[in-house]
Amino acid sequence: MQIINSAKDMQRYSDALRQQNKRVAVVPTMGYLHEGHLSLVRIAREHADTVIVTIFVNPTQFGPNEDYKSYPRDWDRDVKLVTSSGADCIYAPEPVEMYPEGYQTSVRVDKLTQHLCGIVRPTHFEGVTTVVTKLFNATKPHVAVFGEKDFQQLQVIRRMVRDLDMDIEIIGAPIVREPDGLAMSSRNKYLSAEERKAAQVLSRALFEIRDMCAQGEHDALKLSQHVWQNISTEPLAKIDYIKICDLETLEDVTRIRRNAVVALAVFFGKTRLIDNIILKTA
Ligand code: AMP
Repeated sequence: MQIINSAKDMQRYSDALRQQNKRVAVVPTMGYLHEGHLSLVRIAREHADTVIVTIFVNPTQFGPNEDYKSYPRDWDRDVKLVTSSGADCIYAPEPVEMYPEGYQTSVRVDKLTQHLCGIVRPTHFEGVTTVVTKLFNATKPHVAVFGEKDFQQLQVIRRMVRDLDMDIEIIGAPIVREPDGLAMSSRNKYLSAEERKAAQVLSRALFEIRDMCAQGEHDALKLSQHVWQNISTEPLAKIDYIKICDLETLEDVTRIRRNAVVALAVFFGKTRLIDNIILKTA
């Protein structure tokens, strides 16, 4: 397992692979890895000769009152997991390598970032698109894999890559869930035993309306009310948003015509969890 900490070394590593006509994939992560991340590595492996996993808790995508400092980290465990997942290289720069003194550039996607999580986290996606651009420039991938768990992030990155003519194939990977349905997330670690149990309500509510939609209920208001009522029965859940939107524009829809996404963010105590599911009409 190759571990690289600087952008220059990372570029050299990738240049050498490209010269040998090897296909390079990258899987960007913030570490504290779980099966969801590892599924991305396996998908990346199907599309490339060499898989680079980046591990970087990016300070600029956290708001001032968010959990940057307390975000879970476990370097040794992550290295073991990446090694056993079959990836070839970890790129793990320090914040000062990414944002040295004098740093002043950012990448912003406009409209897509103004919906869903962008409303309560107004600076989040600019932090994401900027860091992902830097990670792409360092790792020089042909292909990059992102999870549908962060559906808005995936669409924002697709838009950025299209708009900026980045020559990188973006692959979306399905959400990996715990046996009880909870979407895997590094932040699940924050949940108390009661909150963890209560959080099951999210996937239950999403699965229910996926089935309702498949059986012919296409009224988005009725469907979102159903999720809202379902989640409201759980006293530990505090809803941030529940939205049914167009897959590409992320604008609210009133009727499901072909497909749409229902996306939600819900607090359990201080922990904000996000989840989503694609609704299909048939
Ligand atoms: P994170 O470390 O949370 O920033 O996530 C890194 C990547 O893993 C992102 O592309 C996420 O969408 C993806 N990811 C996180 N959790 C899951 C999951 N449960 N299933 C699939 N992908 C995930």
